[in-house]
Amino acid sequence: MGKSLGLVTTADVEDATPAANAVHTLNRNAGTGICDQYLDESDAAGTGRFGTGLTVLMGGGRRWFLPAGKFGSSRTAATDYSALPPDLLNGWNLPSSAAGAADPNRYLLKDFTDAGFAYVSSAAALRDLMERGTPSKLLGLFAYGNMNVALDKIAKRRGQTSPATGGLVVDDYHAPDQPMLDEMTEAALRVLNQNNRGFVLMVEGAHIDKQSHTMDADRVIGEMIEFDNAVAVARRFADQVGDTLVLVLADHECSGFSLIGALVNPPGSTGNVIDNLKTQPSDATVLDPATQPYRQKAVGVYEAAGFPRYRLLPDGYPENFDIEGKLLVGFGANADRYEGWLTKPLPVIDSLLPTEIKGELQSKGYPAEPISRGAGAADPYGDARGFFIRGQAAGRTQAVHTAADIVLSAYSAGGTSSQLFGGVQENTEIFFKLVRAAFGAY
Ligand SMILES: [Zn+2]
Repeated sequence: MGKSLGLVTTADVEDATPAANAVHTLNRNAGTGICDQYLDESDAAGTGRFGTGLTVLMGGGRRWFLPAGKFGSSRTAATDYSALPPDLLNGWNLPSSAAGAADPNRYLLKDFTDAGFAYVSSAAALRDLMERGTPSKLLGLFAYGNMNVALDKIAKRRGQTSPATGGLVVDDYHAPDQPMLDEMTEAALRVLNQNNRGFVLMVEGAHIDKQSHTMDADRVIGEMIEFDNAVAVARRFADQVGDTLVLVLADHECSGFSLIGALVNPPGSTGNVIDNLKTQPSDATVLDPATQPYRQKAVGVYEAAGFPRYRLLPDGYPENFDIEGKLLVGFGANADRYEGWLTKPLPVIDSLLPTEIKGELQSKGYPAEPISRGAGAADPYGDARGFFIRGQAAGRTQAVHTAADIVLSAYSAGGTSSQLFGGVQENTEIFFKLVRAAFGAY
């Protein structure tokens, strides 16, 4: 249809959701090949004979764009894809240049810029570029692996160091200046809107899922705020331009995330519940059912929960997640962990990172998985001092996806295509409804 494609994510761009929207692969972990295919399958030369029309690609994942051997590169022959067989090349009408090759030494970043993509690697560079004008194609790689979560990016913008390390998480991740999802969305829409035949833009708040796997409630909530801001950008665009459908949905639920109550000082105890939690002795070894620990009594339920009052700073995020009346989250599909109710000073080491950065984080005391939180001196609030929760059938290392229903919100400006998406529906119907919406068949 001649439309442009944009992919914006807070994940490494090799991750499943962006990859499924633009390339063909049977292995979600084949990052070298996936990122090669972003370019090779895009029809960068504009022949119109094939291709995804990829025009905007933003997120993390710089490690796949640097030749093997360079700092932060994850390119290998094992994660590449070898040449497509001739029947597929013919069937998809692909030129031989899109056939692919096992080439871990490819300098993919250079190939993208040679193909006309403007490249930026920081939030400041993105702002700068967009102030100078609107590029015809845009590549933004703001981290080596997954980008950092809103909570840690905002901490950097505010200059709030982590009480665990005295440093800033984004600096430890070698990604000191990352844009927020709404800032990326704003730039993507400007670039894509230059095509008068229209576009498809996929925007992913990837860490809503990833931080649910690690049962890090505060980092999930920060991520929801960041995603909500991106939805606002899309809705404003739809209202201004018209003829636009905005769909907001998830591919699945993760962790059985539910609100169970709010943090209150138990009746009979004095002082402030946050200060009390910071000085509570460990519950880790108290497994006597007759002994109810303070941390459990600090969960106010029903009318005792009251109403949380977070103070928002001008950046739109809470000044502090640890407040009296803090919303408390339970995980129905949980893994083994300790619960201390306080903001975790460090994220669990991200799985999608170059090996050298993973090693650095490990040596700085970042936890390798939820159960190892607080095991070292780097976690002063000692999540491990909270009470131990044994994961159910879900296992030891991380919470899992559930079969719970998810919410889909649809909004259209200048048309009624959003009405296609009403009611209870199976997830696979969404694809066909998108096709109908694109063809105006509704
Ligand atoms: Zn997941």
